[in-house]
Amino acid sequence: MKSVCIYCGSSPGNRPEYAEAARAMGRLLAERGLALVYGGGKVGLMGTVADAVLAHGGTAIGIIPEALMQKEVGHRGLSELHVVRNMHERKQMMADRADAFVAMPGGVGTFEELFETFTWLQLGYHAKPVGLLNAAGFYDGMRGFLQHAVDEGFLKQVHNDLLHVDTTPEGILDKLARAPRVTVDKWQEKREQT
Ligand code: AMP
Repeated sequence: MKSVCIYCGSSPGNRPEYAEAARAMGRLLAERGLALVYGGGKVGLMGTVADAVLAHGGTAIGIIPEALMQKEVGHRGLSELHVVRNMHERKQMMADRADAFVAMPGGVGTFEELFETFTWLQLGYHAKPVGLLNAAGFYDGMRGFLQHAVDEGFLKQVHNDLLHVDTTPEGILDKLARAPRVTVDKWQEKREQT
């Protein structure tokens, strides 16, 4: 594992624990020699994690659509800033450049990125590990809802278990580093069952 894509809020959130987690994550990435791949903004937790990586001598790679350069304030101090044409190019480049993915607290943009990456894993489009940094219990409700989807027969437990979860940056990065690369094909599994 040489690079980690972090999905997180373009807002800082209301609790100091969120920014603390973002600073700790940025510092740890730099200390472990892992490049940060992220959305390229300067605002919210996105900016906090990137600033922490850079402050500790790490590598921060930002990828931002041209339309968001002003709104999310493209970070000018990054190791690399790629300004791409649209959101699809951004997500594709983030997925290509990272060896693993972590969602930290955020809003619908973060959720969308997490769930796209999670569904691509479930469909076998990639085999890179995906994790949640559940800082201050932010994702407890989402985890409960995913379990509800399992209980109601819309999500398999084995697929839900593909999403690694931890409450600390150390914990989640350790889990992703140890995680085997699994190639899943939910439709192949379906065919095999019938
Ligand atoms: P948010 O979690 O809503 O604060 O957004 C966090 C990041 O997700 C920001 O960089 C947004 O630009 C990005 N984002 C918002 N919508 C999408 C989307 N449809 N696909 C990918 N990223 C998105």
